Amino acid sequence: MALGSKIYKVGDVTIRRLNELETNGFTAKGLIPDWDPSILEQHKDWLVQGSMEEDLEHVIITIGTWIVKTPKHTILIDTAIGNDKNLPASTGLANLQLPYIQWLKEAGVAPEDVDYVLLTHLHYDHVGWNTKLVDGKWVPTFPNAKYVFPKTEENYYDSLGTNNEANNPSINAFEESVLPIIQAGLAEYIGPEGGEYLEGIKFIPSPGHSIGQMSISVTSRGEEAFFASDVMHHPIQVYRPEWNSCFCEIDEQARESRLWALAYAADRNVLYLGTHFPGSSAGYVSRDGDGFKWRYE
Ligand SMILES: [Zn+2]
Repeated sequence: MALGSKIYKVGDVTIRRLNELETNGFTAKGLIPDWDPSILEQHKDWLVQGSMEEDLEHVIITIGTWIVKTPKHTILIDTAIGNDKNLPASTGLANLQLPYIQWLKEAGVAPEDVDYVLLTHLHYDHVGWNTKLVDGKWVPTFPNAKYVFPKTEENYYDSLGTNNEANNPSINAFEESVLPIIQAGLAEYIGPEGGEYLEGIKFIPSPGHSIGQMSISVTSRGEEAFFASDVMHHPIQVYRPEWNSCFCEIDEQARESRLWALAYAADRNVLYLGTHFPGSSAGYVSRDGDGFKWRYE
């Protein structure tokens, strides 16, 4: 079931998960190079309930979109991988053919209905459905939307001079999924300081995983949802915040942003909405002694 069964209510805002895909294709060590299997002694029981395979080798993650409806607007946060994309074969994610648009319709969202597409960063697994391939051309999937993303990210991926090993994950993604949006005049930018973009919707810098990544806070009637972005890929990192994923570009900054996000989520008791956690990808972080703990919602 690609469309999450739960509909979260945060004040007057409703939030629903759309998993473009869920995969056990990564080993724990592959996704998290610092992975130490001794952590299983304490955490095995909950991990095998949907977060890790019984083999205790492969972790489960998702790639997806958050559908956010406010009283005024229909908003998507991050747009997964997309169909027909010319990604490197090594990703195993090139040329997908998935009924993502149909899944959105099942959530009551036609492409024309989307008012805003908010992007936490510009890695290929967050921008794909920005565009679709029509007669050999990449065109905006959501023709009436403003696409909003950190300017620092655009500056970085726009320039061949900044291409390096760390931003290899974005090969072709900028050209196929971001540039056509800019050329169509649908892009709006968030400066490096972040800030409120729409009433109750705020971008907060959380760099490190990528150079200009931002998390997004949505508040309504005193309640808050926290779209954390890729500060974590898997809930085991709640218990080991010093463990980066293999996709984190700036290691020390990624660790700092992870600790910041955990403290933010725990101390404000906000609904934490991850991009890649398995299943619902949603839950709560709380403090536990010197560290943190996780509970799915
Ligand atoms: Zn990602």
